[in-house]
Amino acid sequence: MCDLIITDAAVLFPDGIVRSAQTIEINEGKICSVRPYRETDLETAAKERISGTGKLVMPGLADCHMHTGQQLLKGKVLDALPMIWTRIMLPFESTLTEEKMELSASLAALEMIKSGTTAFVDAGSYHMEAAAEVYVRSGLRGLISASTMDEKGLPDSIAHDAEEAVAQTDRLYDGYNGKGNLKVAYSLRSLISCSDELNLKAARRAKERGAKLQAHMNEYAGEVNYFLTNKKVRPFEYLDSMGILDEDFIAAHCILLSEREKDLLAERGVKVCHCPFSNCGKGAPDTPALREKGICVGLGTDGAAHGGLSLWNEMKIFRSVMNVEYGSRLNEPAVMPAKYILKMATENGYRLMGEDGGRIEPGKQADLITINMMQPHLYPTGNPVNTLLECVTAGDVCDSIVNGKVLMKDRHVLTLDEEMILAKAAEYWEWEDSETAGRTEKEERKAAL
Ligand SMILES: [Zn+2]
Repeated sequence: MCDLIITDAAVLFPDGIVRSAQTIEINEGKICSVRPYRETDLETAAKERISGTGKLVMPGLADCHMHTGQQLLKGKVLDALPMIWTRIMLPFESTLTEEKMELSASLAALEMIKSGTTAFVDAGSYHMEAAAEVYVRSGLRGLISASTMDEKGLPDSIAHDAEEAVAQTDRLYDGYNGKGNLKVAYSLRSLISCSDELNLKAARRAKERGAKLQAHMNEYAGEVNYFLTNKKVRPFEYLDSMGILDEDFIAAHCILLSEREKDLLAERGVKVCHCPFSNCGKGAPDTPALREKGICVGLGTDGAAHGGLSLWNEMKIFRSVMNVEYGSRLNEPAVMPAKYILKMATENGYRLMGEDGGRIEPGKQADLITINMMQPHLYPTGNPVNTLLECVTAGDVCDSIVNGKVLMKDRHVLTLDEEMILAKAAEYWEWEDSETAGRTEKEERKAAL
């Protein structure tokens, strides 16, 4: 008897081809068989069953860069003047509490499950233990970090020296690495907020523990200029001179890269994540060149404050940006084909996280989602792969399975209490409203600092 059987579904295979009428069997968290459907499958003994009729099964999406700690900033960043990091994000994160992080993680987990994300990388925030507790319960696969920087002049609540900055992740690692489907990565929040001592300490500790190391990289012109002015080299060249770059380094954004830096990423096996909606205000990454060099590139949302946690939106934006920036210039409509973008959001994301999923084939982690295809905006289609990219949105995801466990069935989330979480969110909203009522924007900023 298998743990879970999905019968009579269309399946997106690793070669990028969708084959109809397939049956998938799952045991002990792994896919054990994928084969053509036969009517007798309806009688096959299984602890749990999902009818795939009218559905398409594909690997779950991996959000390779999000911020749980910014979930409650949704709607507060769009069109804001730069630098939002110093003006909005940092002051807000310095006021986070355990309660706020528990609510943030609950909302983020719900949003991810309901939009087809099965795995995520949190770039690091504060009170991450409270978030980790929620993520363990949610059943999602996650790679989480503590926000790590030792810049002088930060608000007291988040001011750390290099020793304490790394110790935060040590504690998170000891408590949560391997708990549920979570792993813990070391992080460098942003290189201009981290001293050399911290860079080396975090990198050394990550190596000692066989953990990933992640950082925001080459996102702003100001950041690249800081290195050119003070170190006479670009950010990746600087990290490489310290021996920090390797295949376990996850570099978020990577918009402003020199040719030498692109080569360095390939030579060291660095993993890259773009966040299209967020990145649009800063530039278009040279993904065609990164792809050409064989660099593993995934996609991320950069957190709910940057357009929500739907990777379906990110994929569409990414495709549009690539076509405006490169496709139209070269008169090459397939400069970033749908098949490849879907691979970035699935297989590449899992590879970036060091996980063995993102592909529907025997032996791989059973992290899958189903899409309800019997809807006027999806059916019929001459090419289901193109339609997945062009037309599917978060609301079309029916079922979500992580490590063989069903987290959502027919859009009903089974691991978290959606009603209760939304009631808590409403309470928070009322409280925040009363806190800020009557304050001018300037006073609000002062209060936050
Ligand atoms: Zn970020």
